[in-house]
Amino acid sequence: LMQLSVPLNFIGFVYREIRQGLADIEQMFELLDVEPEVKDAPGAKSLVVGDGSIRFDNVNFSYDPARPILKGISFEVPAGKTIAIVGPSGAGKSTISRLLYRFYDIQSGAISIDGQNVNDVTQKSLRAAIGMVPQDTVLFNDTIAYNIRYGRVGASEEEVTNAADLAQISGFIKTLPEGFNSMVGERGLKLSGGEKQRVAIARTILKAPPILILDEATSALDTATEQEIQAALDFVSKGRTTVVIAHRLSTVVSADEIIVLKDGVIAERGRHSELLEHKGLYASMWDRQREATEAEEQLKRMREAD
Ligand code: ATP
Repeated sequence: LMQLSVPLNFIGFVYREIRQGLADIEQMFELLDVEPEVKDAPGAKSLVVGDGSIRFDNVNFSYDPARPILKGISFEVPAGKTIAIVGPSGAGKSTISRLLYRFYDIQSGAISIDGQNVNDVTQKSLRAAIGMVPQDTVLFNDTIAYNIRYGRVGASEEEVTNAADLAQISGFIKTLPEGFNSMVGERGLKLSGGEKQRVAIARTILKAPPILILDEATSALDTATEQEIQAALDFVSKGRTTVVIAHRLSTVVSADEIIVLKDGVIAERGRHSELLEHKGLYASMWDRQREATEAEEQLKRMREAD
């Protein structure tokens, strides 16, 4: 019996470790796309996070050597500030967030947090310092409380409900048949994109990381949902160094710096008003977005009039 129970315990242990380790990763990245090559440097130390400033220094990166994706990218996010990354599809926006999380190693240049190169610290400590709010959160087939608590497994019931309040999701949870104990995920209640994103925000509130990466939804949300999500995001990013892959005007308007990425280089950078004055790529992107929003609103009015 001893012989059997040891391996079984071990399997249980490994399973729990894997689930735990996946919790964060699964939130943003399709696991199967991630190559396992990234390894801790021998003798890697834990990241010591001070205020959480981020620096990209002449970063060059390609998934495939024949096709450079980021070419000489440099920027800095001072502690507590927000940088918004915008740009056409395929420009390399999500790649920047993957590299900060060190899912891949760069070919040249340096990425550092509070002066420590991400290559020199343990991946575990690096990932513990960064919270991710992805566009599409993976929910576990479990209760909504369990899904929120994933941000910090030891959190009390009160902390979970507080996080849900702050993430503007408790109103929705109250409407569920079994409240916080309702099953969600593939085999439970299916949540909308906006609801899932607020679950991710609640998780991140529990995790309370010094650094935050937000990937805003591209899909149009109704005004009330958008305002709720914006309020939740404002709360979670307050006082945290934040990188937003931005699709919403409200985000870029208040960002401390906007980086316009195109074909792997920074085509324009500055604050919203400066970039509008510049009448370049950014100005034309937002003009187009405004036209699309107006068209959508007109369509809605027409439908309502029917
Ligand atoms: P979107 O706004 O459409 O999400 P993005 O600006 O975030 O786009 P990235 O996801 O960073 O773009 O991708 C940049 C480029 O890298 C794309 O051309 C994409 O095809 C390529 N790419 C992304 N992931 C991989 C991968 N795992 N392997 C190879 N190429 C990849």
